[in-house]
Amino acid sequence: AQPPEEKAGIVTGAASGIGLAIAERLARDGVRTALFDLDGDEAESAAAKIRGAGGRALAVRVDVADPDGVARGVDRVREHFGPVTILVNNAGKEGFRRFLDITPEQWDEMLAVNLTGTFHCCRLVLPDMIAAGWGRIVNISSSSTHGGQQYMAHYVASKTGMVGLTKSLALEFGPSGVTVNTIPPGFIDTPMTRRNDARGRLGPGGIEEAIARTPVRRAGRPEDIAAACAFLVSDEAGYVTGQVFGVNGGRNT
Ligand code: NAD
Repeated sequence: AQPPEEKAGIVTGAASGIGLAIAERLARDGVRTALFDLDGDEAESAAAKIRGAGGRALAVRVDVADPDGVARGVDRVREHFGPVTILVNNAGKEGFRRFLDITPEQWDEMLAVNLTGTFHCCRLVLPDMIAAGWGRIVNISSSSTHGGQQYMAHYVASKTGMVGLTKSLALEFGPSGVTVNTIPPGFIDTPMTRRNDARGRLGPGGIEEAIARTPVRRAGRPEDIAAACAFLVSDEAGYVTGQVFGVNGGRNT
C-alpha cells in the first residue's frame, strides 16, 4: 500500500526530554502528532508550543499502564487526526535499587509502564496500521539492555522485554506494511538524567565521567534520538524492521 498522505502519530511520554524532542520533530515533519503523558499540563504546554510553530499537535493525559486510558486516548486521536499510523513508545519509568530491595510491587510497576504500556499502545494502534497497509512503530528501550546495569535489574528487564517485543512484532506485521524498530538510547542529557545525577546514581564522576567514557565525547541530546526516530518512521525506512538502532555516541555498553 501507499503511505497515507496525512499521517497521525502518537508519542508517549512526550511532555519531557526525549519524547518531547520526538514529538516536536515529527510535527515539524508534517505528522499530526498526539502527545500522551501522565503530566497533562506539561503535555498541553508542549502541544501549544508546537501549534505556535505551525505544527499540528494534540495533548492527551494518558497513563500508558492503564489499558482503558490508552484506549480512550487513542480514540481521541482518531477523532481529531484520523487513523494512527505512527507510534513511538517512549514513556518510561526509571528505577535504582539493589535487587534484593526491589519489592514485588516495584517490579510490577516497572513492567506495567515500560513493557506492558508498550503492549497496550501497540495493541490498540496496530489495527489502524493494518487497515492502512502502512505503519511505523519505534520503541525507545535503553543501551543498558546490551550489558545490563547494576541496581537497575527491573528497569533493564523491562527494556529488554521491549527489544524482544520489537523483533517479534516486526516478524508478524511486516507482511501488513508495518515496520517495528527499537532505539536504545545511550547517555542522553534529559531531566531524567539530571535527576539521576543529583541523586548520585551516575557514580562519583557524574555526567563528566559518563561523557569521558563516550567516544564522541559529549552527552547525547534528545534531538539525536528524534533524528533517528524521524528516519525510522519515514517512508524511505520501509526496508528497515526488527532492528536495534543504537544512538549512543559509540558507547555500546
Ligand atoms: P523524562 O523523565 O525526561 O521523560 C519521561 C516522560 O514520560 C515524562 O514526561 C513522564 O511524565 C512520562 N511518563 C512516565 N510514566 C508515564 C506513564 N505511565 N504514562 C505516560 N507518560 C509517562 O525521561 P527521558 O530521559 O526523556 O526518557 C525517555 C525514555 O528514554 C524513557 O523510556 C527512558 O527509559 C529512555 N531512556 C533514556 C535515557 C537517558 O539517558 N535519558 C537512556 C536510555 C533510555
